[in-house]
Amino acid sequence: MILEDAVRRYSLQNAIKFDGKAQPKAVLGKIMAEYPELNAREALILIQKIIEDVNTLSLDDQRKELEEKAPELLEKKVGEKKSLPDLLHARMGSVITRFPPEPNGYLHIGHAKAAFVDYEYAKKYKGRFILRFDDTNPLNESIEFYETQKEDLKWLGIEWDQEYRTSDHLAQHYELAEKLIKNNHAYICTCPEKKIRETRKKGVNCPCRKKSTFSDWKEFFTMGEGDAIVRLKADMSSVNTAMRDPILFRIIDYPHPIHGTKYRAWPTYDFYGAVEDSISGVTHPFRTKEYELRDEVYFFLLDCLGLRKPHLMEFARLSIVGMPVSKRKIKPLIDQKLVMGWDDPRLPTLKGLQRRGILSEAIREFVLSQGISKAESSVTFDQVEAHNRKILDPVAQRFFFVPNPVQLEVSKAPKKTVSIKNHPSSDLGMRKIRTSSTFFIPQTDADNLKTGDIFRLKDLFNVALTEKKDILYGEFTGGNVMPNTKKIQWVTNNHVYLSILKPSSLFINDVFQPHSLEKIRGYAERAISDIPNQAIVQCERFGFIKIEKTSAGMQGIFIHK
Ligand code: ATP
Ligand code: MG
Repeated sequence: MILEDAVRRYSLQNAIKFDGKAQPKAVLGKIMAEYPELNAREALILIQKIIEDVNTLSLDDQRKELEEKAPELLEKKVGEKKSLPDLLHARMGSVITRFPPEPNGYLHIGHAKAAFVDYEYAKKYKGRFILRFDDTNPLNESIEFYETQKEDLKWLGIEWDQEYRTSDHLAQHYELAEKLIKNNHAYICTCPEKKIRETRKKGVNCPCRKKSTFSDWKEFFTMGEGDAIVRLKADMSSVNTAMRDPILFRIIDYPHPIHGTKYRAWPTYDFYGAVEDSISGVTHPFRTKEYELRDEVYFFLLDCLGLRKPHLMEFARLSIVGMPVSKRKIKPLIDQKLVMGWDDPRLPTLKGLQRRGILSEAIREFVLSQGISKAESSVTFDQVEAHNRKILDPVAQRFFFVPNPVQLEVSKAPKKTVSIKNHPSSDLGMRKIRTSSTFFIPQTDADNLKTGDIFRLKDLFNVALTEKKDILYGEFTGGNVMPNTKKIQWVTNNHVYLSILKPSSLFINDVFQPHSLEKIRGYAERAISDIPNQAIVQCERFGFIKIEKTSAGMQGIFIHK
């Protein structure tokens, strides 16, 4: 490549990185690495000349030019890093997706995966994204969850173009059911449950299939709970047991949070799932793989109804080792008070993760990195932590926290006021700490020290351990940083008490762990009390913590190392 071209590319790259203004020195580094034989002074003159021109371009033009000349040099924005694979049968501007939560609990990280996949695809194809509440089982739904689920989606940064409740379409569902029965595609079955199970198992037709008449449909609405159901005339001898005349409607006598006692006949997932996807215009509905067997029912039903068939897509359910990623598993833990509530930091609920200090952006990156493969697998939570750490590390202010503190008296210690950087590389300011001869260091470090050992009180000075009793005694041995000296965080007498809740796995090999929320007590440097509620800081040699301030005082939640 011609030298001028290389310089131009690197100048463009550097300009884009620094708001449109390239720096000659940075470009020189790249050029010298690639052309080591060049005379640096001459190269710099050339670079300055080219940069002068590059810097006159707008940021947009710089990006465009680099995109053309060397797209590999364009740094992708965080949000663009993981792009989802192209969808089949997708046209720009006409993709419609939906996220269909049931308002029966708080959303968890598995829902975040589904919601992000739906939302990102709609965005990718400049289409539409629908939030649909699948609220057709009055026994399960609660009014509070419509709002809290929306709150959680907003926290994730997900926005929807349309929102509706499936329960508001019941009148239309009844019309469609009537049509099915009229056209001999469905029937009213009055067999007892046991009988239904038997004929299903044997794969033989239910006698109601023949007997049922259209007038039974009107009567259906007057029948008692459990006395009758509407079934699809599918295929009782199918090898796919889901096709053996699945239930479409059943009677539930329980007030619905929105409609009260207005309706008694409620559609099943087989019915409303397919019907709603179709009539709301969804082109690419995603379902988790566990419904795979029901896909045949989905298409068969839409055929019977003469409705449009969407491109049904499937991906694996997200599971995380040691965590209950399912409302069904989370709810009993809360009901039995085995955890503190929906926002317990050990739970994979979005409320729990938020409380634990996992950022919504990290959740997004994590779930999208899982992709839409159908292969079932259980990932470990440290993947979520890794995404979170990457975002937090450059922005979290550092502090000293001393877990299980042990007193250390240092003789000949000079009285000092040290200025300590709040971050080793980012510009987050400094804090001042006044020291005397009394310090506290962590118990684990104290345990590992022997008399005669020299260690460094981090960012302060070196100490030689002279005696170990209930408290430690040491002697000041100078301020110079020495290689291979252990650095230990410390606090002075001027500290605050801080207890930190440390969550770990709720389940190990499916066995519930009652002691999975450990309380670590310690001292933190006083400056930490000025940190606002909910802020995240990094306690050196300990980990990232989220500060929680309540009327009861201040505590920390351990996020990760
Ligand atoms: P849960 O057991 O948590 O109640 P669900 O599937 O019954 O799970 P819904 O509220 O009905 O919960 O689900 C809404 C959407 O979220 C569905 O499309 C469902 O497939 C998806 N979803 C739920 N859990 C997960 C998960 N663990 N991984 C991926 N997607 C999920
Ligand atoms: Mg459900």
